[in-house]
Amino acid sequence: MGDLNDIQVVMANAHSAFETYRVIAPEQRAAFLEAIAKNLESAGEGLLELTAKETHLPLPRLRGEMVRTCFQLRMYAGQIREGHWVDAFIDHAKPDKNPPAPDLRSMQVPIGPVVVFGSSNFPYAYSTAGGDSASALAAGCSVVVKQHPAHAETSIYVYALMEHAAVQTGMPPHVIQHVEDSGFQTGKALVQHPATAAVGFTGSYAGGMALHGYAQERKHPIPVFAEMGSVNPVLLLPDALATDAAGIASKYAASLTMGMGQFCTNPGLMFGVDSAALESFTEALVQAVKFVIPSPMLHTGIEKAYIEKSAKALQSKGVELIFGNPESSTPGVFLARVKADAFKENPLLHQEIFGPFSVLVVCQSVEEMLDCCHTLSGQLTTSIMATEKDVGTYLNLLKAESLQAGRVVYNGVPTGVEVCGAMVHGGPYPATTDSRFTAVGPKAIYRWTRPLCWQNAPDLLLPDALKENNPLQIRRWVDGVLKV
Ligand code: NAP
Repeated sequence: MGDLNDIQVVMANAHSAFETYRVIAPEQRAAFLEAIAKNLESAGEGLLELTAKETHLPLPRLRGEMVRTCFQLRMYAGQIREGHWVDAFIDHAKPDKNPPAPDLRSMQVPIGPVVVFGSSNFPYAYSTAGGDSASALAAGCSVVVKQHPAHAETSIYVYALMEHAAVQTGMPPHVIQHVEDSGFQTGKALVQHPATAAVGFTGSYAGGMALHGYAQERKHPIPVFAEMGSVNPVLLLPDALATDAAGIASKYAASLTMGMGQFCTNPGLMFGVDSAALESFTEALVQAVKFVIPSPMLHTGIEKAYIEKSAKALQSKGVELIFGNPESSTPGVFLARVKADAFKENPLLHQEIFGPFSVLVVCQSVEEMLDCCHTLSGQLTTSIMATEKDVGTYLNLLKAESLQAGRVVYNGVPTGVEVCGAMVHGGPYPATTDSRFTAVGPKAIYRWTRPLCWQNAPDLLLPDALKENNPLQIRRWVDGVLKV
């Protein structure tokens, strides 16, 4: 699909599919999502081996990611089958009010065709049939996937399974489409097509902001939900370090090096107060990462960026290498140390280096740790290692609301993003382009909807969710009271 004229056809098809699909009963949409999950599972080891070859990701990791992907699809199926998610409000007419109030009813409705840019680091869970596509299809949107070139064959295979599921469950043609061409012109044309209503993206800051820019240039701008990366700072509080420096170092080393650090929640910065405990922690950390065998990165572009960015950071003023071999031609783990003053002055050290690269910032006090943390921009996560004593001493400094992050992790590491209702996988800019939403969990569906209000509409014209007799038996706010 190299021809931009083809994008016209794809988006016209996405538009007509949306018109039919958006009114299909939730039960049928749920069956479609479940059929995708079943088809993915049926593909078995053949698909996993293909992806392993394309991405260099090990089979056990891919098996786990496949389980997560199918769980997500079934979770959204369950959510729309249950129906409460539409957020129905009914305020009956009040003829006696002065002036009289009309009958008002509102709920969330699908926004329109969604373009999804698959990510390189989650070939299943955030790609073709991943969280963005699954939540958009659940919401009632048609989806166009722009495949990621780093796992092109996997994407084609997964798309075929999705298309088959659409046929099996009687979905309208083109409810899901796949664009195979790589090239920024294709991505730009998809974002700027008038039929596109929203965009989902996981990848680099440069890529996410480029798509956001294209969307703003349109005659009718549209939302771009871009998840773009994060340094995920970890605050090491004094009593926690004094109590268990080795335990924290071992957790941190595992989180930093998992999957060659190619996670958006990879912990890239640590902050601690200069002390014997911090010294013990550093030694334990170096010992722990020594035994990690580096593996190839996802694609040559990511490898090249990692080698270049880590070399540049290591050459910065005041940065001391404490582990790693910068002379090696293959990428490996790097640990570095810098004093707080040099850190604050160097914006390069505030940015994500995608891979197993981490910098320990040595501060003079907890207040300085927080001060350094506040120089950072928005983050997906911030982690705090703290004992009860630390919490009692630094109570006001450690409140989650004061940190610029979508998720604040206490005594844990940021990697590992549970798929559940309370999860927030998002965060203030530049972690994402819209901090009001999460990309993981049931609430991710709201990225693909808009609220619509019906005023004085006849019952026959109302969607089932808003009809007077509540045929779907869903939770609704009626005249200010939640009716279950
Ligand atoms: P990427 O370069 O951001 O590309 C992701 C997708 O966006 C690709 O399909 C790419 O299109 C498209 N794209 C990027 N820039 C574009 C532009 N200006 N116009 C139109 N389309 C554009 O991500 P990547 O290849 O996966 O990895 C590169 C870097 O992204 C990594 O080194 C890392 O820093 C970061 N990353 C972050 C995360 C995260 O979770 N936040 C995940 C993966 C990667 P083409 O197919 O045409 O190239």
